[in-house]
Amino acid sequence: MAFELVKTESSSKARRGRLTTAHGVIETPVFMPVGTQASVKAVSPRELRELKAQIILGNTYHLFVRPGMDVIRHFDGLHQFMRWDGPILTDSGGYQIFSLAKLRKITEEGAHFQNHLDGTPAFISPEIAIEIQQTLGSDIAMVLDECPPWPCEYDYAARSLEMTLRWAKRCKEAATTGQLLFGIVQGATFADLRRQSAEALVQIGFDGYAIGGVSVGEPEPEMMQAIETSEPFLPADRPRYAMGLGTPPQMVEMVARGVDMFDCVLPTRLARNGTAFAAEGTLNLKNAEYTRQKGPIEEGCTCPACAEFSRGYVRHLLKAEEILGLRLVSLHNLHFYLNLMTRTRAAIEAGTFEDFRRQFVHNYKARDEAGT
Ligand SMILES: [Zn+2]
Repeated sequence: MAFELVKTESSSKARRGRLTTAHGVIETPVFMPVGTQASVKAVSPRELRELKAQIILGNTYHLFVRPGMDVIRHFDGLHQFMRWDGPILTDSGGYQIFSLAKLRKITEEGAHFQNHLDGTPAFISPEIAIEIQQTLGSDIAMVLDECPPWPCEYDYAARSLEMTLRWAKRCKEAATTGQLLFGIVQGATFADLRRQSAEALVQIGFDGYAIGGVSVGEPEPEMMQAIETSEPFLPADRPRYAMGLGTPPQMVEMVARGVDMFDCVLPTRLARNGTAFAAEGTLNLKNAEYTRQKGPIEEGCTCPACAEFSRGYVRHLLKAEEILGLRLVSLHNLHFYLNLMTRTRAAIEAGTFEDFRRQFVHNYKARDEAGT
């Protein structure tokens, strides 16, 4: 069994687990930094290891378009290519085909599209999505799915879900050993469709289950509802992964709802506009108030940026558009996310998760997250 539950909570659905992959063991709940183009933006694999990242994410669509599978094959897979020897999760490419590429035609067989870089036509089917992820050599592969937009009509969501389930079955049939395969629960904001999706996927049988179609622009209560209407129908002995989430309090709330795995571009994306995460919420380091401050980005933070540099210096770097500035904020933000999950795991182990959750969510005030 790849997944083992180490401890469960009685006051919430929070779980402390351990997932074994071909490139190492992952302690859950876990945050996975996003390495879209075979790189977690501005941060090296060595730095990721120092930050204690356990697993990173790679984007199949981007790597398929550039550098292409010939190059990845030449370098013996994504681990060797980018020199990251820990676990990697790859998405199926579906999300980007539907959101980024010029979609030409979607049929039962698969999706015809033109890539967003030079318009070259390409085709991806469930079998091809698995084949590409095998070439990448990821430890965890995802099924090809259609992620309906928000808002979405019931009939559209239901039809889309039917096809996504048939695609999931084809992915399972194409899968090989050595790579874990996760199914993806869809069903938009409709509780009956979420349940139908989860039950059908469990019937097919996957190594883990993602909850997709969340964080696609819907209000937070609907996001939480999508989790709450999917989770009860997922087996306790498999990991659950909320795709593309979220803010720090959202992650803690999702852990309380039984989610084990997260990925999100916020820590690195916000770093590039000078926004840093802290226990009391985000701060915009470009603000004039930080010009003369000698303290670190966050008092008590043990990240490489806070160990050495002042807010005033980091602000100067950001204002002068020095590359080091966004690198330092990226390191701090990744550390914040990774450390939040370390604290979450410790709280579940100690049986104090409910107190931790209440206190963390109470103290955290979202400020500069608009427009993300
Ligand atoms: Zn820091």
